[in-house]
Amino acid sequence: MSATGTPFEIPLSDVRVAEDEIAAAADALRSGWLTMGPRTAEFETAFATRLGARHAIAVASGTAALHLAYLAAGIGPGDEVIVPSYTFVATAAAVIACGATPIFADIAGAHDLSLDPVDVERRITPRTRAVAVVHFAGYPAPVDRFQALCDDHGLALIEDAAHAPAATLHGRALGTFGLAGCFSLFSNKVLSVGEGGVVVTDDDAAAQRMRLLRSHAMTTGTLQRHLGRALSYDVVDVGFNYRLDEPRAALALARMAKLDAEIAARRALTRRYRELLAGLDGVTIPYDDAAVADSACYVMAVMLDDARRRNGVCVALRERHGVQTSILYPPAHRFTAYTERFGAISLPRTEDAAAREVTVPLYGHMTGEQQERVVAALADALARPASA
Ligand SMILES: *Cc1c(COP(=O)(O)O)cnc(C)c1O
Repeated sequence: MSATGTPFEIPLSDVRVAEDEIAAAADALRSGWLTMGPRTAEFETAFATRLGARHAIAVASGTAALHLAYLAAGIGPGDEVIVPSYTFVATAAAVIACGATPIFADIAGAHDLSLDPVDVERRITPRTRAVAVVHFAGYPAPVDRFQALCDDHGLALIEDAAHAPAATLHGRALGTFGLAGCFSLFSNKVLSVGEGGVVVTDDDAAAQRMRLLRSHAMTTGTLQRHLGRALSYDVVDVGFNYRLDEPRAALALARMAKLDAEIAARRALTRRYRELLAGLDGVTIPYDDAAVADSACYVMAVMLDDARRRNGVCVALRERHGVQTSILYPPAHRFTAYTERFGAISLPRTEDAAAREVTVPLYGHMTGEQQERVVAALADALARPASA
């Protein structure tokens, strides 16, 4: 059993924090300036530079990043935002937090788990203000097509790039196609800090509005007052406390220096998974080998041919092989809070994929031997009769 107390021999994800990263966070603590200071600014500059974005704004979470992005797009009561249901619920919840209505659209299919532009287009109404796309598992959604669609209809494009830091489409960083790109620093994400997020934009007005709303729309910050540059402040909008603190910004900055190596390792493991799983009956793997080079490889999704086998396979992996799995995602439109608000919605491709998906372990320092054990365990679980 590891220090985290996991009962699994091979956990789904496994975070390692290196000594230099701990030292960076400790230095921030020793500095005595604990929030929104030089380390936050340095992290924002480094993140914007890495992505080729004009502005990066560090925030408290990926959810906060989405909320600010929607507000910067002008989303408010009476508006509709088209979102996937096949995502973490925050993509939709942040729309509701703006007083607007999420309109769920279907994915392309089990081979490509991102939104289908054709299904999105047919859900556009006079109330639609924005489309939010998710780069599922770090693979690019067709954001060039979505950008054209949004331009045609006068809509804002928001990218939920929580899975996709430093991933690309045609060489351009995901998160930089739309009005804003939203990233998460949650502990199981590719750039993991614990809690935190970043929103990037090339739009100066959107950046200014998101910076204001991040900290209660106050016209001056505590640091400026601490430095004697301001005595008081005005409040010019209704904002939030969505700030990131300095130890986490320091940790994010130190870990970002290793992001490319982490992603390279995940890509190599993903290619090997694809090879090993290609020989296994009863499963298909979304996306293709070529797409791996563009992806941040956040998770490894495996689609079982037979949805009825799914829960049994997950239990067998846990009980017989000590392998942790997860289901990404239970469709948002099926959650109680959503059926209560929006009634029964049918999204056949989302429902099909969500019923068949199993997420298997993937992290940069996973060994080849662990990976072979996961695939052997999956083969064993699938070979057992469905009832066992
Ligand atoms: C993790 C995640 C979020 C939310 O990020 P938090 O930092 O946990 O608030 C939003 N969207 C997607 C697709 C995610 O995976």
